[in-house]
Amino acid sequence: MTNSSLDNPYILLTPGPLSTSPTVREAMLRDWCTWDDDYNLGIVTPIRQGLVKLATSTAPEKYTTVLMQGSGSFSVESMIGSVVPEDGKLLVLANGAYGNRLAKIASYLKINHIIHDTGELAPPDLAQLDLALSSDKSITHVVVVHNETTTGMMNPLEAIAAIVKRHQKVFLVDSMSAFGGVPLDIAQLDIDFLVSSANKCIQGVPGFGFVICKTTELEKTKGIARSLSLDLYDQWKGMEEGNGKWRFTSPTHVTRAFHQAMIELDEEGGVSARFARYTENQKRLVEGMEKLGFRCVLPKDLQSPIITGFYNPDSPEYDFLKFYNLLKQKGFVIYPGKVTGIDSFRIGTIGHVYPEDIDRLILAVEKSMYWNAQLV
Ligand SMILES: *Cc1c(COP(=O)(O)O)cnc(C)c1O
Repeated sequence: MTNSSLDNPYILLTPGPLSTSPTVREAMLRDWCTWDDDYNLGIVTPIRQGLVKLATSTAPEKYTTVLMQGSGSFSVESMIGSVVPEDGKLLVLANGAYGNRLAKIASYLKINHIIHDTGELAPPDLAQLDLALSSDKSITHVVVVHNETTTGMMNPLEAIAAIVKRHQKVFLVDSMSAFGGVPLDIAQLDIDFLVSSANKCIQGVPGFGFVICKTTELEKTKGIARSLSLDLYDQWKGMEEGNGKWRFTSPTHVTRAFHQAMIELDEEGGVSARFARYTENQKRLVEGMEKLGFRCVLPKDLQSPIITGFYNPDSPEYDFLKFYNLLKQKGFVIYPGKVTGIDSFRIGTIGHVYPEDIDRLILAVEKSMYWNAQLV
């Protein structure tokens, strides 16, 4: 399977949104009634059950899924604001823009919190985490980003979970850009709440997010929410009692497309097959780019297969926008860099994107290196 230029004018290497399959987009071509069984029992309920199955094969009975309108950040805000009680204290592990956003949400909601920021180029400090949880008994919850999309750094979720759980804290994970594309068992890691969204590794279109919750922990959160529309517990009750009914207007077309995207994930061979494809995409990307003289921002052992940062070429003639537009004309859209103080750009390798697309991209990059007289 590859992308043709007839399909979309260019493919998105910008997760997210990311490139979706024509069949996922096609699934949006009819209307749905939000209180009819065709929608609630036929689409929403299988999605909720399917997400739990994707999250754990060892103890699916312990988990439930709540879908929430909005982009991914709305679901993150829903989770944090609905789970940490007034007398709670949240420890935020941050090493990038998305980790910092977790702390910003806590600030907005006036939730008592502390930040352990290791900077964008280092993983969380496990010894410091252990020490903080031993010395500050008022900490009740810990939150971390799984794959930090700022850099493409894969944070060591297993090791973090082991420490958080040894101290018996409630563990929240922003797995926005990893869930569905990186193998994980939420029950084995004993994660209490994990958030992701429709338009990342499950390859749906944007419009809602979801929180996979340990049911016994979710049951404890009644009345905590600081927002009506983002009340996770209330949304859950509504979906349970209404057999899949969202409290407020749901993004019906987006949900239908997501249902198709989940079928396609299964057809591909599930999360492990998707992980293998993303890994192959990223491997070809780095090999190709390094041959052309580009250098990766992160060392290989910290790098995920999701998105990769490259240093901008060290040439006075180089201008990112010019490079970007040349690639766009050739059918590829890339991402500006986001790492503070590092002159870089990023290329995502997730979505309806295949190793052959990456090979075509490398050729397009080679033909767009206008600053290198030898090549063009
Ligand atoms: C994409 C993403 C989000 C959510 O971003 P939105 O723009 O609100 O969809 C949150 N955390 C991480 C790590 C992400 O990659």
